[in-house]
Amino acid sequence: MFVIGNWKMNGNRELAQALTEALREHADELNQVQVGVCPPAVLLASLNEAAAETELMIGGQDVNEHQSGAHTGEHSTELLSNFGAEFTLIGHSERRQFYGDSMARVAAKVAATLANSQLTVVLCVGESEAERQAEQTFAVITEQLETALQGQTGDCLERLIIAYEPVWAIGTGLTASPEQAQQVHEFIRSWLVQKFGAEAANVALLYGGSVKPENAEALFAQQDIDGGLIGGASLQVDAFIAIAKAA
Ligand code: PGA
Repeated sequence: MFVIGNWKMNGNRELAQALTEALREHADELNQVQVGVCPPAVLLASLNEAAAETELMIGGQDVNEHQSGAHTGEHSTELLSNFGAEFTLIGHSERRQFYGDSMARVAAKVAATLANSQLTVVLCVGESEAERQAEQTFAVITEQLETALQGQTGDCLERLIIAYEPVWAIGTGLTASPEQAQQVHEFIRSWLVQKFGAEAANVALLYGGSVKPENAEALFAQQDIDGGLIGGASLQVDAFIAIAKAA
């Protein structure tokens, strides 16, 4: 099971200290869970340092598809890796909605990360509220997966995680019911198996969207939910640890 916190544009060095202290304190109860955090890029180094003697995996929130050069404000796979990242989110719905991450750009980022680094890709997909109401959920997820993974072969599977995050559930307090989430996760798993073969059944599928200590256990109990991607609740150390213990 994976529990990954996405701090978005929040957090600070104090949170990095407090979280890693709590991880050391609760290490025995968390040894079945792979805990990760994606801090803002400027905090990667602080979190990496604070995470000494913990099993915490550190990740980027996004990555640029170029390896270096004149891309003001952007971060390459190499920069992320240099500061301790083992994985990176790609295609988070906030990037898709507000920062120009078209399907083609998401595909370029996935391809560059898999080809040029050792980072694991946590590919985020999910439908909007209007798309769900129009019964387009599976069509949207299919298109997002198809474009993001076009040209990839089974070689990518060891470094691939998919996060299903319904846009209507992100930061809204609305959570997909465990059954709604399970239905989409099952669909994603069978899509992966159809594309890449039986081995793809082992790809971890995370649910994200208003996961809290109160709803984590029921979500994580679903057969095709292998963990969570946690936004708001990852900023509160106690809540985040409680969610990790539920995994
Ligand atoms: P949330 O965010 O838990 O605050 O809904 C999840 C995410 O965007 O990854």
